[in-house]
Parts: sequence; structure tokens; C-alpha cells
Amino acid sequence: MPAIRDDAVVLGRLDYSETSQILVLFTRAHGKVRAIAKGIKRGTKTRFASGVDMLDVGHAVLSSRRERSEALAILTEWKQSRSFSGLREKLFRIRGAQYVGEITSGLTEEWDPHEQLYDALVDALGHLSEASSAVASVVSYQMALLKAIGALPRFDACVLCGGTDALTYFSSFEGGLICRNCESGQVEKREVGPMTLAALRGSPVAGSPSGAFSALNYHLAHLMGREPKLADEVVARVAQRRIE
Ligand SMILES: [Zn+2]
Repeated sequence: MPAIRDDAVVLGRLDYSETSQILVLFTRAHGKVRAIAKGIKRGTKTRFASGVDMLDVGHAVLSSRRERSEALAILTEWKQSRSFSGLREKLFRIRGAQYVGEITSGLTEEWDPHEQLYDALVDALGHLSEASSAVASVVSYQMALLKAIGALPRFDACVLCGGTDALTYFSSFEGGLICRNCESGQVEKREVGPMTLAALRGSPVAGSPSGAFSALNYHLAHLMGREPKLADEVVARVAQRRIE
């Protein structure tokens, strides 16, 4: 089997046996890859000398039969390349990082590369490891992910009539804002306020980052088919419902 060398972020880790783990890696050039790391828990193998932790960034060597992409790849080497030790110093930082990992894992396909998104993910982890608040970094990453998968909503005008006045609702299904004139015919919708709109349009300093987080999380939840488990750890559920 040919060896694949790539940079990767660890998005998931599951015990598989006494000595092995299955890892979900988001690689830079090959996209999401599920790989088995044999002997990783024994701790004696030099190729995994440092262990592999959630959200670690490193160089991976994988072997895989690409024609059987549903099969697990085998992680044969791992070397950590970046350390974001600040993530574990504050609970909100690690929760924000776990959320970006969760939505990345939930909305990317195996062996479907997104190099820009990989870079955005590493940048987000770097920002979060020094952040005094997680929300702004998380919102930037939500946007980067939606753009990468071709699901970035329209925030400049009503998606139904093209009007730019009284944009008071957001619809995930329609993929953007809906004005007051059009909203009555729309079942799936969520109210958005002016502070949220300002943040969604790229001025999080002026607007409400938590409002933008909540609107984008609502959209991501629709795309994933479930609520991201860690959303409430980034912005409390009660604040997610606030219209601002
Ligand atoms: Zn309209």
C-alpha cells in the first residue's frame, strides 16, 4: 500500500482495542480520513512516542487502499508539529476548539480535500489558544467552513425578492436573509436583529458575535441534520435564542 504523508488535525479519537485507537484526522491535502493507530496505547512504539491527543496538529504517515475509501487507513507514524497549549488553560478555549472540530468532522466528506479550510482550522486553533473570548474566532471559522462546502448564506439582500429593507429573518433552507414582506410564506426561519446582521456582514466588533454564532449554528445544525453537541458550550442556549 502506498504511503501518504500529510499534515493533519486530530478531530476524533475512539478506543478500538486494548492497544489501538481509531482516529478521525482532517488532513490538509486529502480531507477527512479515518485511520487506525495500532499499538498507540501501549506507549512503547517510538512512532507514537508522544501519543496523539484531540486537536493535536502534526505530520501523519498513512497507508491506505484509496480504491477502498470506506476502509480505515492505517496510521503508521505521527509527529506533533504545532502545540496550542493555551487551549487547555481555559475551558472556553478548549470548548470553542472542540466545537470547530465537531462541525468540521460533521460537514466534510472522507477523502474530499479542503486545503484552505485546513489552514483556517489551524489558524482558528491558534487564535483560540490565546483568545480572551472564543466567539469571534469560532464565527470566523463557521464562515470559512460554510464557504468551503459551498453553503455560505447570502447576507446582503432578501433571498426571495432581492429587497434590502427590513431583513428580519434568516432561513437555512433558502440560504439567506428574508425580508418582512416575504417572511409570512416561509415556515423554516429564525428571527435576526440588526446587531446580528452587522456581525454576519463582517463587522463583529460593531455587531453581536454571539448573535452571528447563533444564526450560523442554526444553519450548520440544519446542514448536519442535528444540533452540534458543543454549541451550548460556546454560547449558552438562552443567549442563542436572544434576538439582537
Ligand atoms: Zn423579500
